[in-house]
Amino acid sequence: MTDEDRLRQRIPAAALERLQSLRLADGVATLIFDAGGLDSLARDRMEVAVRDTLRDAEGVSEVRVAMMADRQEPAAPRLPRIVAIGSGKGGVGKSTLTANLAVALAREGRKVGIVDADIYGPSQPKLLANEEDRPRAADNKLIPVPSKAGVPVLSMGHLVDPGRAIAWRGPMAGNALGQLIDADWGDVETLLVDLPPGTGDIQLTMLQRFRPAGAIIVSTPQDLSLIDAARAMQLFEQGQVPIIGMVENMAGYACPHCGEVSDPFGEGGVEAAAAQKGVAFLGRIPLELGIRLASDAGQPPAAGEGAGAEAFRAVARKLGEWLDSHPG
Ligand code: ADP
Repeated sequence: MTDEDRLRQRIPAAALERLQSLRLADGVATLIFDAGGLDSLARDRMEVAVRDTLRDAEGVSEVRVAMMADRQEPAAPRLPRIVAIGSGKGGVGKSTLTANLAVALAREGRKVGIVDADIYGPSQPKLLANEEDRPRAADNKLIPVPSKAGVPVLSMGHLVDPGRAIAWRGPMAGNALGQLIDADWGDVETLLVDLPPGTGDIQLTMLQRFRPAGAIIVSTPQDLSLIDAARAMQLFEQGQVPIIGMVENMAGYACPHCGEVSDPFGEGGVEAAAAQKGVAFLGRIPLELGIRLASDAGQPPAAGEGAGAEAFRAVARKLGEWLDSHPG
């Protein structure tokens, strides 16, 4: 019997019937339940009962529970379609990719917005050069902040002082995310959500309250990053969120002096991992000094020209095709 089977045996029967998936990794038990048709009291009771029975189980240091609501139960009558951009670890270029995909899609004439859900390290206001702006609120909803690149954005970075670490967990983080997503998005049709790295509270809130239409996973090509990426992907699969595909970032460094291309983090690892997992490979973004410099200056490369811009646009075209072939 596996450790997961042992946990399963402890779950009360009424909850077990609704269990969609259970995973135990590094002492963290992640359980996803189908809460369709239950009112909030019944949901809370079920969650508490599950937490109580698993809390002191052997090998479990933390219990995470997601109650998946019915699909037709969003907080607002009409929310844009959500595409989650995730990664296993930080620093792999997830925020950079999110900003540039949005800019590239907007250049194609699509109505796109960004939610910076990386509430522990929000970077979209800097990437889109609207750090100084603050969202207004009307009818209890936030109004997204416009950016020069034509993409409206809402980020915790717009709500708290820049540079202040946000040490929120659980419900507070979830509520913050809720305000950013359930905002007055106007005619925006697609929201790209820049998630924090890993598989924490924000990801679970996302799954249970605002189920994304699909998810994109970003990774650098080396094994360590890929192992974490696989874990991030697994969480979406557990929540029955389709994986749109994987993107390889920081492959192929062209030396600005001699032009020779080298691969500091290896190359091709993400494409191979995507093939192995049976998900689409959406493309490769080169490691370019120009991408870093333009990003730091608040000028998303995808708004300009050149190899880096084209790489982002190629990934955006694939995302656009996916959106068109998965309407609603
Ligand atoms: P994450 O959101 O995964 O933490 P970021 O998007 O913030 O990562 O990127 C981390 C750093 O790497 C930033 O300074 C960014 O400008 C830089 N960066 C990201 N992708 C590239 C790339 N393809 N080439 C050069 N620098 C990059």
